Amino acid sequence: MRYAETGYNLEIDLSRGNIERVESDPKLTELHLGGLGTNAKILWDRVSPEVEPFSPDNLLMFSTGLLGGTPAPGANRTVVTTYSPQTLLMGYSMMGGFWAPELKYAGYDKVIFRGKSPNLVYLWIHNDKVEIRDASHLHGKGAVETQELIRRELKEPNAQVAAIGLAGENRVYLASIEQGRSSASRLGLGAVMGDKGIKAIAVRGTKDINLARPAEFFELCSDVLKYIKFRNENPVPNVMTILQGLGSPQEMVHFDEKWHTENFMWGNARVRKKDYWNKEVEQKWRETQETVRTRLISCYNCPIKCGAIISVPGLSTYMMKCFSKLTYTMAAFSDLDFGFRIAQRATEYGVDGFSTPQVMAFAVELKEAGILTDADFEGCPSDNEGKFYWLLDRIVRREGIGDVLANGTYWAAKQIGKGAEAYAHNNIKKHEQLPLKLGMLNPVYFLMYATGEKANITQIEGQFPQAPFMTMEEREEFVKDWIQVPDEKFKQYVLDWEPRGERSNPYYPTVDMSVDIVDWQEKMHYIDDALGVCAGLSSFPLKPPYHMHNYPRFISAATGMDMDEAGLTQVYQRNRSLIRAINVRRGLRRADEKPPEDHWKKRFPELEEKLLDAYYKFKGWNNDGIPTKEALHALGMDYISEDFEQRGITKDGKS
Ligand code: SF4
Repeated sequence: MRYAETGYNLEIDLSRGNIERVESDPKLTELHLGGLGTNAKILWDRVSPEVEPFSPDNLLMFSTGLLGGTPAPGANRTVVTTYSPQTLLMGYSMMGGFWAPELKYAGYDKVIFRGKSPNLVYLWIHNDKVEIRDASHLHGKGAVETQELIRRELKEPNAQVAAIGLAGENRVYLASIEQGRSSASRLGLGAVMGDKGIKAIAVRGTKDINLARPAEFFELCSDVLKYIKFRNENPVPNVMTILQGLGSPQEMVHFDEKWHTENFMWGNARVRKKDYWNKEVEQKWRETQETVRTRLISCYNCPIKCGAIISVPGLSTYMMKCFSKLTYTMAAFSDLDFGFRIAQRATEYGVDGFSTPQVMAFAVELKEAGILTDADFEGCPSDNEGKFYWLLDRIVRREGIGDVLANGTYWAAKQIGKGAEAYAHNNIKKHEQLPLKLGMLNPVYFLMYATGEKANITQIEGQFPQAPFMTMEEREEFVKDWIQVPDEKFKQYVLDWEPRGERSNPYYPTVDMSVDIVDWQEKMHYIDDALGVCAGLSSFPLKPPYHMHNYPRFISAATGMDMDEAGLTQVYQRNRSLIRAINVRRGLRRADEKPPEDHWKKRFPELEEKLLDAYYKFKGWNNDGIPTKEALHALGMDYISEDFEQRGITKDGKS
C-alpha cells in the first residue's frame, strides 16, 4: 500500500487523445518526496533540453505534494511545471486553493500532459472516469467564468477547476492559470497550457488517502493548529506589521499599506513615494477595501484567511490574491479603487498580477520617452487609467503593440530596440521581479535574487529577518523562543547584526553567514514545494508552525518512511541540484545570475563575486554554477554528471 501519495499519475497525450493511469515509482518518492521534486525528475528524464516551450514534446505537469490532501494544515499546493516561454528555463509556480487535494481524492498524484490538442478541450477527472471534452464553446471566456460554466455543465458544484483565460489561449507569456482563490501566475505557465489547447482541468474526487501512522500524524497536525492559534494571538514583535503573522492575510485583512506604498516603486519601478501614506489615504483605502471586500476566505484546510471575495459594483465577483491589490494601483500611479477594478478584468483574462502591471507601465514610459509612438497607441484613451485598460486588452489579444508587450519587458525591449532595454530594468533571467530599488546592497538578498531558480524573490525569502533589529533588547527578545532555527548559530547572527557600523550590510552578515542563511531559506522552500505545503505556514514567515524539526516527523508518520533532519536535508540538496542541472542543460550559467543593475544604488562588485563563489562552493557547484561530479555522486546522481559529459557541458568533470 502507498501512504500519503496515491501512487498513480494520469498521463494525457493530447495529440492522440490518449489517457493512461500509470503507477509511479515509489523509489522516486524516497529520493525526491513529490510535488516539485518528482516533477523535476520527470522533466529531466523525459524532456530533452533542446525542446522548445511550445513544442508538443514539452510536458505540462500539475502535481500535488507528498502531504497534499492529508490533514496537515495548509497542505494544498498544486505545483505546475514546464519549460517557461519567458525564461526558457524550467518554470514552476504553485497555486493554493482546493485543486490538489481534490486530485488526490480522485486517486492521482499528478496530471502530466504531452502533445497538443488540435481543438480547445478541457479535462474532466471524476475518480476513475477521465475524459477529454470539447471546450470550443469556452473560447475567449474568462478564467473565473470558465470555472463556473464547467461546474454547471458537469452538474458538479463541488468540482475544482483550474482554467486559463484569453491570455493563455493567446500564448501571452504573462498568462496565469486560475483556480479558486489562487493561481499559478509566474513564468508563463498559462501560455503553455493554452498552447497545448487545454482550457481547463476539472476534478472531483471522493476517495481516501492512506496514512501510515494516523494517530501520530493527527497529533502533529493538532500541534501545528495550536501553534497557529498561538502565533495569531502573539504576533512577532518589533517587525513591520506584514511580517508579524503567518500567511499573507495582511493584504486583505489590514489596511495599513505604508510600507509597500513607500518602499516599492511606482510605475515600472520608476519612482519611490517616500511620504505617500497619511491618515487621509489610509481612510480612503480602508473605505474602498471595506466596500468591495465581501468575505475573507482560506485555501483548503487552513485556518488563516489570506484571500477575499471582491465584489465591485457592476463587475462580476472575483477572489483577490495576495499582493495584486497594490500592483496595478502602483504601476498606474492610481488608487486602490482602480486596483480592485482592473484586477477583476485581469483575473478573468488570466494574467500574472506581478508582471502585467509592470509591462503596461513600461509601455507608458516608452511612449513618454518617444520610443513608442502615437501609431503604437492609436485609439488609446488619454487618461492614465484608460491607458492601462486599453493596454491590458491589447496584450491579452496580442493586438498591435500588445503582441510585442505580451512577451514581457525583456523580450519586448529587445524587439522594440531604440533604447527600450534601459526601461526593462527590473528583470532577472528575463523575468519581471518586484519593483524595488534600494540603497545599500544586502548580501543575503543579493544571493537569493542572483541564484534563485524560482525566479520570484517572495518565494525564496523566508524565516531569517529581512533587516537587523534596532536594539540588543529586541534581538534578544526575537531569538529567545526561536525554535525554528536549524542551528543555534543563526541566533548569534541575529544578535550580532546591527543597523549601522561594522556589523551591518553589506559586510555583515559575512559571506559565509549569508550563504548559510540563504541555504536554510532555500531548503524550507524546496521542502514545502515537494510536500505541497503553503509557504505561508512554513518557508515564508518568521517563526512559522512548520520547520526543520517537525517536518521529518510529519513525513515519517504520513508515509512510513524513515526520515530525519539529515535525510530531509539530502532530499532538498537532491532537488536543488536537479533543478539547477535542468537549467544548466538549458544554458544557465554564472553570467545569468545577477540582480537588476539598479536594484541597489550601492553595489560592491568584488564582494558580490565572493558571495557567488562561496555560494557555489557550499552547494558543491563549480565556479560557473554547475554541480560537480563529486557533489552529484554524493547525492546518488551520477546520471547527471554523465549527461553533462555526454553533452560536452563538462569534460572530465570540469566545465
Ligand atoms: S496561509 Fe493563506 S495562502 Fe497559505 S494555505 Fe492558508 S489561506 Fe492559503
